[in-house]
Amino acid sequence: STYSELIELDKKHFLHPTSPIKQQQEKGATFIFDKGEGIYLKDIHGNKVIDGLSSLWNVNIGHGREELGKAAMEQMARLGFSSCFATFSHEPAIRLAAKIAELTPEGLNTIFFTSGGSESNDTAFKLVRHYWKLQGKPEKKKIISRKRSYHGVAMGATSATGLKPFRDFTTSLAPDFYYVESTGAALRSFIESEGAETIAAFISEPIQGTGGVHLPPQNYFKEVREICDEYDILFIADEVITGFGRTGTYFGIEQFGVIPDLMSVAKGITSGYAPLGGVILSEKIHQDLIEKTEGLFMHGYTYSGHPVSCAVALKNIDIIERESLVENSRVMGEEMLKGFKWLQQEHSIVGEVRALGLMGAIEIVKNKQTAQRFDKPISPLIVEESMKYGLIHRGVIYEGADTLIFAPPLVISKEEIHKMINLLDKALTAVEKQLEL
Ligand code: PLP
Repeated sequence: STYSELIELDKKHFLHPTSPIKQQQEKGATFIFDKGEGIYLKDIHGNKVIDGLSSLWNVNIGHGREELGKAAMEQMARLGFSSCFATFSHEPAIRLAAKIAELTPEGLNTIFFTSGGSESNDTAFKLVRHYWKLQGKPEKKKIISRKRSYHGVAMGATSATGLKPFRDFTTSLAPDFYYVESTGAALRSFIESEGAETIAAFISEPIQGTGGVHLPPQNYFKEVREICDEYDILFIADEVITGFGRTGTYFGIEQFGVIPDLMSVAKGITSGYAPLGGVILSEKIHQDLIEKTEGLFMHGYTYSGHPVSCAVALKNIDIIERESLVENSRVMGEEMLKGFKWLQQEHSIVGEVRALGLMGAIEIVKNKQTAQRFDKPISPLIVEESMKYGLIHRGVIYEGADTLIFAPPLVISKEEIHKMINLLDKALTAVEKQLEL
């Protein structure tokens, strides 16, 4: 059959990203997806599942939006590609750059386009070092990030990632990357021991995603902003997940009342319908680059400002605005958190629950009072059960975590939230039974 043919070809020829490579060889692909609509994905057998993580936290406007297909087709037919290098430009990139300047916090008005989040962060690291070089301070080059952070898999992005398993995948990292605990005091003491004159920037996700949906400690970003100002260190907000409405505001950092010097974006900028990312700069940094760069700005990807991706992004943002999806994310996020709290009452293995907008987590514990974990991670069992009931989400087991994470499309309705919670309830019950609880 076509299905078994696809399974065999997949095993033989397709090395999957971030995959349990042995298990894939033994079991084959669990789903071969074929179609999507709203919060649902359908596989080639017609099985319908809720996409509880918006695929990779990116399908913000939901699946199956024909308008995006039409925008892509029209742009591709008109001008499928042309360069934005040097002094060349085109309308989709210009319009999108201007639109994003309208949406971002005050003063962040210029974007450099990339093809995704990893490239955005690598670009940000090169940019901040270049910036300090132009100020006559080439020794300001260290990049500080947080433990448990995730910033992507390009060489700089991997090196900035605080989650050790991602760094351990390879044997040699980029130099001058350091990781600190998530407190203002830890950041300050690190800066003082290394010397601010050696540090270019601090990078942080407003809410840590891949590490397990961790909200920052109270006042954390206010302290970070103050410390960065005090020591003349640039602050990069990695908004790759939290941008474009995920947390109930347009950008995650807005929740914490501070303005970064640079922001990395990707994912929700096109809701995944085409690859695109960017680094957004403050006016000050942009002006300094203009005034001080001699000759060429020596950084650019072939697909920086791809016209089709930019046209798709413009239509995506149009839909986010027209359907008030940022507001829906906030309201439905509260509904999701209510559901998590109900699950906490119903299930002995549900510990702490948390969410901001449509980005949430459930801790799996053996003992609610002490937050003690099981001897081995339980979340993979729950993820597998959920899948049987028609819900896809992710379990985080890095560095001692045992956490379920959720980030459904921002178009989700109240009824669909309830459905998601009910499926999760069934999966938790089934696993508690397996554990003989
Ligand atoms: N930064 C954050 C916070 C992310 O969550 C991700 C991807 O999950 C990235 C960067 C990397 O983005 P990409 O996979 O598009 O390279």
